[in-house]
Amino acid sequence: MTSSIAAEDEVVELAADLIRIDTTNTGDPATVVGEREAAEYVAGKLTEVGYEIEMVESGAARRDNVFARLKGADPSRGALLVHGHLDVVPADPSEWSVHPFSGAVQDGYLWGRGAVDMKDMVGMTLAVARRFKRDGIVPPRDIVFAFLADEEAGGKFGSQWLADNRPDLFEGCTEAVGEVGGFSLTLPDRQGDPTTLYLIETAEKGMAWMRLRAKGRAGHGSFLHEDNAVTTLAEAVARLGNHRFPVVLTDTVREFLDTISEVTGMEFAPDDLEGALAKIGPLSRIIGATVRDTANPTMLNAGYKANVIPSTAEAVVDCRVLPGRQEAFEREVDELIGPDVTREWVTHLPALQTSFDGDLVEAMGAALRAEDPAARTVPYMLSGGTDAKAFEEKLGMRCFGFAPLRLPPELDFAALFHGVDERVPLDSLRFGARVLDRFLRTC
Ligand SMILES: [Zn+2]
Repeated sequence: MTSSIAAEDEVVELAADLIRIDTTNTGDPATVVGEREAAEYVAGKLTEVGYEIEMVESGAARRDNVFARLKGADPSRGALLVHGHLDVVPADPSEWSVHPFSGAVQDGYLWGRGAVDMKDMVGMTLAVARRFKRDGIVPPRDIVFAFLADEEAGGKFGSQWLADNRPDLFEGCTEAVGEVGGFSLTLPDRQGDPTTLYLIETAEKGMAWMRLRAKGRAGHGSFLHEDNAVTTLAEAVARLGNHRFPVVLTDTVREFLDTISEVTGMEFAPDDLEGALAKIGPLSRIIGATVRDTANPTMLNAGYKANVIPSTAEAVVDCRVLPGRQEAFEREVDELIGPDVTREWVTHLPALQTSFDGDLVEAMGAALRAEDPAARTVPYMLSGGTDAKAFEEKLGMRCFGFAPLRLPPELDFAALFHGVDERVPLDSLRFGARVLDRFLRTC
């Protein structure tokens, strides 16, 4: 018998090893690297302690995913999916203080691309999975561990493909935990003393990338010309980009604001919600984006020569739509773009929302409080999207973002996602491993 190794003892090493495997996903499938190597690393760490794993390519060569199932005490209960993605967004080494794939451990932090998105959680999951297997710990119900490709490009060669083509891998899963939630936010309470809230993700905005197209009459750039596709498109894009969609408080956002008000005494006046939200600090960039739909024009394409009026002009608009708002959003967009511009969805992943209640939510709170007695949990909505979209829409799971981290109050956590000098405090990683270990024993 070897002496027991706790999850927190090896989480830093596991996460650092993963960061050192460059898994850059540019969104162009031809350039993707490292997902297979990362999957092989994960598979090796799981089989080493006795797991039977399945490695699956998701719709293209070298887009590998790893699955392992740990039997629970009560087979009649639905299984819990614990998922994390192995890919990361690109990083330019010339902008960084350390090499983004160095996995450097210095100044109390683990540095590198993926440190918070999300090789931290992958390392924590791996550490807990290994600990449970080594020590024969039986969770209350089956746990399915999934390590996935292609999240950063929407999961077409990852979660979406797997949900469509290999639902058997998720057999029996009724609930799921993954990114982005479980992290702490420190705010002054009513007496001015610091209080720690942990944000659990229970909702995500929909992600809808829209192509606009205007058609006109081609012609010579020197003539009088009434029907110019570029002018028509530009006007529609400007109207859309300048438009403010109405504030709509979903259940999740309302509960978030009510809890913050109750704990801190802050007021959130409906007529200046974004302004009021600034009081919660940098995280308001995410929360502020969840009180209304947004439509940000991101790409323009028209013409091929300065003196030729083209017959078509196109734009792409990144739309993020609140749960329950899709139809109303589309009506508003159609009014803004007018009858001369057509639209189509390039990518359309739905919004999600689940309620902040039930045994799993209780277990998250209890696991956090066991490590941080003053912890208070609060639901929130993510303005972006995650692999949860595939698991909720296609497989009917209730999805939560729960990758627990107790963060230093002054750390601008939101800025680290896809940011330069992405890093995670070592203490936060160890804390997360302890919380996840407790949580999965009581899930
Ligand atoms: Zn991520």
